[in-house]
Amino acid sequence: MPGFPPAPSSRSLALAELAAYDVSAWFGTHKVLDRVSLTMPAGEITALIGPSGCGKSTFLRILNRMHELVPSASMAGEVQLDGEDVYAPTRKLTDARKAIGMVFQKPNPFPAMSIEQNVLAGLKLTGTRASKDTREELVQSCLTKAGLWKEVKDRLSAPGGGLSGGQQQRLCIARSLAVRPRVLLMDEPCSALDPTSTRVIEETMLELAEEVTIVIVTHNMQQAARVSSRCAFFLAAQGTPGVIIEHGDTPAMFGAPQDRRTADYVSGRF
Ligand code: ADP
Ligand code: MG
Repeated sequence: MPGFPPAPSSRSLALAELAAYDVSAWFGTHKVLDRVSLTMPAGEITALIGPSGCGKSTFLRILNRMHELVPSASMAGEVQLDGEDVYAPTRKLTDARKAIGMVFQKPNPFPAMSIEQNVLAGLKLTGTRASKDTREELVQSCLTKAGLWKEVKDRLSAPGGGLSGGQQQRLCIARSLAVRPRVLLMDEPCSALDPTSTRVIEETMLELAEEVTIVIVTHNMQQAARVSSRCAFFLAAQGTPGVIIEHGDTPAMFGAPQDRRTADYVSGRF
């Protein structure tokens, strides 16, 4: 089977729609998601909100096949990227992880590696061999897209671990972009950052959304309202697996939620 359709040009990233159909998930016999369906439209930012433990991170990891790294984990349902089955038996695992990148809560650059080497680290995953000129171009373009270029262009050989937390998170975004993903999943990317760094990352996300579909998990309702155009509210009632209670356009979810539980959550009542 061929890989996912390539980006239209080698310079730009490509917009793609990600969709989950009837996704359920288990750790051993513990069911943590029940038949979750959600379309994450191309070029938009979709926010996943909901209390801790309702399966948001598990859902993200199912989207890019990281869930299967946990030995006890299993899932049912389908994930499609632009209509193609991410879980097709013939599809290479690395294909899915390349097409659908992930940024985590805690910035995790390789601390001893230079800033430049951090950006290029993802290329090993793709087995891409690039000339020195191409590599330099890629480093500059990814750091620019991640909003970090101006701050680091004079010290590309300095270790990634020497950057501030917010800069490290943007370096991780640049590293994800280097393999030209179609989708970027961000699991509470600002939870470990101060308000100023958070604002910078939000601005970066809004610019990136023109080139890559973004799905962000956040506990910050103001952040969801500021950055996302679509929103899904996850909830796991006592002892039951997580489900989506409501999803839709962000202004409607915050302004006129249909379900009382959504209204309570977005207004901070639980
Ligand atoms: P959220 O991101 O919404 O806080 P998670 O997806 O992390 O929720 O967790 C959903 C449920 O799955 C929780 O009950 C959690 O304890 C359980 N869980 C998450 N990861 C694992 C794991 N590696 N092994 C076993 N249970 C897990
Ligand atoms: Mg989580």
